[in-house]
Amino acid sequence: MIDSPDPFPDFQVDLGPISGRGVKLVELTPKHADLKWILSVHTEQYFHHVHHVCELGGGILDQGDTPVSVDSCDVALLSLGSLLTCCDAVMGGKVQRAFSAARPPGHHAEPDRPMGFCLFANVAITAKYLRQQHGITRIGIVDFDVHHGNGTQACLEDDPNKLFISMHQHPRTCYPGSGYEHETGTGAGEGYVINIPFRPGAEDEQYLAAMEEKVIPALDAFKPEIILISAGFDAHRDDPLAHINLSEECFEKMTRRLVDVANVHCRGRVVSALEGGYNLRALGRSVVRHLIGLSH
Ligand SMILES: [Zn+2]
Repeated sequence: MIDSPDPFPDFQVDLGPISGRGVKLVELTPKHADLKWILSVHTEQYFHHVHHVCELGGGILDQGDTPVSVDSCDVALLSLGSLLTCCDAVMGGKVQRAFSAARPPGHHAEPDRPMGFCLFANVAITAKYLRQQHGITRIGIVDFDVHHGNGTQACLEDDPNKLFISMHQHPRTCYPGSGYEHETGTGAGEGYVINIPFRPGAEDEQYLAAMEEKVIPALDAFKPEIILISAGFDAHRDDPLAHINLSEECFEKMTRRLVDVANVHCRGRVVSALEGGYNLRALGRSVVRHLIGLSH
């Protein structure tokens, strides 16, 4: 448990705009993910390294970018488990769409190394889980975190059963330095990775245009059976970690368009995972707009 003081003691996320629309919110209780799902993309050696560092009391992984405490491995298994619980609820018909409000995030973690606050590649593992546990063979993944989803890409780049689309600040100007347009997948997965980099200073207009001109047509052609969203909110204009200037409204609009595609191709099924977002007030407001988009 984290026992440091709440940095925003008076801050509450107002869910009224969602429930006020007559949408019934269902709270799901996550379970820890089974180790076998971690091993669907990560090496055993890597898992044991993370587990061991945590067991010894924690430390710094990834050359200083990814600190862990004694509880981090356990919490990361719960964060992944939250996403898998969302998938079970959606695939079982309990809910049509679900959002995993869990950290640590996952989209930077590569098969054999942690990166950028991420220990396990939650969304990539979820794609494997959906295939093996629920028989889904075409999985659309849209990552609008401001940083390239290098981990998701590294875990799934040779896999033709997914379409991975990442919208992010241009790698020449932003961590992690990958996500160029020429990265389009490898082997059998060639053509199933689409990277859409944006120049620093990009605003709603550029993102919404890319959504209409690139993301939606690609998803329409792929015809996914479910859409996963790597929902990072650090492209918000108030976020301290990057230089993209999106409004909260833009997150809702992009989400609505993804729900529209899901309604056409996959019975409305969308599962969304929280990734980045480091201005906590902007993050709270953006998540609410994302949930409004998901519930439309
Ligand atoms: Zn990010």
